[in-house]
Amino acid sequence: MFAEVILPLPLYSTFTYSVPEDMADGVQVGSRVLVQFGKKKFYTAIVECLHSQKPEGYDVKPLMAVLDSSPVVRYPQLKLWHWIADYYLCAPGEVYKAAVPTGLKPESETYLSLNPDYEPDERNPFKITERQAIVIQFLQEKKRMRLSELETETKFRNVAAIVNTLMDAGIVEIDEKVVERYRPKKTTYMRLTFPRGDSDRLHEAFEQVKRSRMQETTLIAYLDMSGWMSPNGELRDVERDKLLALSGTSPAVLRALVEKGIMETVKKSINRFTAADDTEEKINLSPLSAAQSAALNQITDGFRQQPVQLLHGVTGSGKTEVYTHLIARALAQGDQVLFLVPEISLTTQLSDRLRKVFGRRLLVYHSKFSDSERVDIWRRLLSGNEPLVVLGVRSSVFLPFARLGLVIVDEEHESSFKQYDPAPRYNARDAALVLASMHGAKSLLGSATPSIETYYKATSGKYGLVTLSERFDGATLPDVEIIDMKEMRKKKEVKGIISSPLRRRILDTLTDKKQAIMFQNRRGFAPVVVCEQCGWSPKCHNCDVSLVYHKNQGLLRCHYCGFTQMLPKLCPACGLNGVRTFGYGTERIAEEIQAAFPDSRVTRMDLDTTRNKEAYQEIIEEFSRHDSDILVGTQMVTKGLDFGDVTTVGVLNADTLLNFPDFRSNERAYNMLEQVAGRAGRRKQRGSVVIQTVNPDHEVLQYVKSHDYATYYHRELEDRRKYLYPPFTKVINIYIKNKDAAGCDRAAIKLAKSMIGVFGSRVLGPEKPFVSRVATYYVQSIMLKIEAGASMKKVKDLLRQITAVLSSDPDIRTSQLHYDVDPV
Ligand code: ADP
Ligand code: ZN
Ligand code: ZN
Repeated sequence: MFAEVILPLPLYSTFTYSVPEDMADGVQVGSRVLVQFGKKKFYTAIVECLHSQKPEGYDVKPLMAVLDSSPVVRYPQLKLWHWIADYYLCAPGEVYKAAVPTGLKPESETYLSLNPDYEPDERNPFKITERQAIVIQFLQEKKRMRLSELETETKFRNVAAIVNTLMDAGIVEIDEKVVERYRPKKTTYMRLTFPRGDSDRLHEAFEQVKRSRMQETTLIAYLDMSGWMSPNGELRDVERDKLLALSGTSPAVLRALVEKGIMETVKKSINRFTAADDTEEKINLSPLSAAQSAALNQITDGFRQQPVQLLHGVTGSGKTEVYTHLIARALAQGDQVLFLVPEISLTTQLSDRLRKVFGRRLLVYHSKFSDSERVDIWRRLLSGNEPLVVLGVRSSVFLPFARLGLVIVDEEHESSFKQYDPAPRYNARDAALVLASMHGAKSLLGSATPSIETYYKATSGKYGLVTLSERFDGATLPDVEIIDMKEMRKKKEVKGIISSPLRRRILDTLTDKKQAIMFQNRRGFAPVVVCEQCGWSPKCHNCDVSLVYHKNQGLLRCHYCGFTQMLPKLCPACGLNGVRTFGYGTERIAEEIQAAFPDSRVTRMDLDTTRNKEAYQEIIEEFSRHDSDILVGTQMVTKGLDFGDVTTVGVLNADTLLNFPDFRSNERAYNMLEQVAGRAGRRKQRGSVVIQTVNPDHEVLQYVKSHDYATYYHRELEDRRKYLYPPFTKVINIYIKNKDAAGCDRAAIKLAKSMIGVFGSRVLGPEKPFVSRVATYYVQSIMLKIEAGASMKKVKDLLRQITAVLSSDPDIRTSQLHYDVDPV
């Protein structure tokens, strides 16, 4: 028997291995297997299929091990991987790599050690340099080390070259070792050292603790908690922490009981998401308003004709409540539910809301969890097909659902559903719809500002359309005031970046004991740094962008590759003291707001303040409890958050949103502004939104002012029709990257020429993208626009043919090509 396997590598084909006799029973489609690939490397691969055709022309290697007794990847998942690879033009192995947590795919790593025969000897003909001696010394001390460890320890940049010379001289050896990265969570339990039947020993134990009341109390508490005294019941080990908490005892008392030989501790691995979570399940739903329950009925009726429904509900209409009722129904039928949201900050707030309703049936999954935590969620889903709801971001479409009955994609218009780098460059909303159809499940897309493509499908009969046009409980959509900053500046009504009208609104808000959100689409302190004396401005070494000043750390930082350097005191070009910072990022705005309203409590939420999952939670909880008055943030604060006391929203500079050179510019700006506006006035008190701009007449601002989705949509759709953009075409962007600028240009021109030969005027470019050098690579892009309805399969086959023909060209060969299908 032979197995075709997928390796976690960017390779387009599967690979064949023979199945040894003794593994034949254990191996199935979707099993994890350990295989050798290349000279010495070992990988965890996934079995794609089993067959009996011996491949010709090479020696087939055997599988080395089957890692589980039952498959880790279920059939619909494998199907989804292939759909993604096919649709988004990447390798199945790249999808596998992204889909499965690292802890489930152990692979070998290279370890270095000294040749045991090596003797540091005067007569040794090999002359050792100082650096080589240091490497040898490390290996003598540590015995075995990974190359990366050696690099960190020695801080030698060329450590690989040093190791190579030592290997050639026979001094250093390497071997490959498979490393297991999953760390099960261990919990300490307490139990008695003797069996339940031994009442003599129990008597003796009570004698032993007679003189210590605390020890006695603890022993009694243990007997109670473990079920010892009810001989027919099950005897449970008792968690040490629970015993401490419930008996009011101290660790010292437990130690004494252990020393007396009465109790002992046991460590057990637990799945973080089964044992740790014993919140009772108490499905307890808020009753829906009349409009909401009409919407719910329309959705469930609609599902009979149309498995995908769009819920277009204005901000604050209670879409989440409608979702909650739908989820409850699905769970009651025994189904599993995937609830996708675009941003981790949203999982934080929603998980509190949903936990109250679904208790332990709720699982949360996102990238700020540790890899081991993610493995535990996989294992929980693999362990059966119990009804569960998974709340997660993008990558949760890859989880091993057994009985998916419902998919909800909230804020479906969000561009963050699209993964940009690395491959697979997939849109999780669209992948989730495909996954749902593979499971025969229903899907609900929800948004206050549906994407043009989705709304087009919903109005042309491809999806069902359900509308909620009013906010819950009589709340009204906020007033939007557009401030002409040119005018304001002329009248000297601007201080820093805050205009007088905005200042007055914030002041009123604080006086009313309400909260405000200030949105600025840029992090850091100041995006522009220039020398006033000579015009010098710091650029990233790796990218074609200017560095942004981060005041907290005193650093200049590249937002594309992470490169940092200190802000120089004196200008490195002219040597004078002329370096100044200009412009506004969230850091500076928070500082200015704090200075303008010294008695208010200001919090900032952006990438810099939310490096870990606790940070998100702390900021959101603090603001929810109204322990902070003003929240300053990037687009993170625009998405779906629900804070009852927020009455004012300020957009400090709308212009960076309005003037973006691509076909989605208006859509992106409208969505962002309408969404951030939607955070204001979500309860009784009417909210107000202040938008500062130098383009007060921009059409998008007018649509936001009147909350007029319909007019915006029709205008935008007409533009798309006129200029042939989605939904009237499908767009594929092709990026060419090369470390050599001229090589990049030549490759792009050759590729575009071949493409024009096949696709004619559907090809645009090549052109330099907005940022034309990223992380040391020069970039060129080509856009391909294909009429809607044409066979995309054929288009993609042609694209593959074109690149295959060009693959021997040296400029193409040295370039990296990647595809961005349906760019957002
Ligand atoms: P959306 O997701 O449409 O922006 P939410 O679901 O967040 O709106 O609802 C806005 C606010 O109104 C929330 O605080 C929510 O708890 C409240 N709300 C909405 N519907 C109901 C309901 N049926 N019962 C109680 N509260 C509701
Ligand atoms: Zn200078
Ligand atoms: Zn950079």
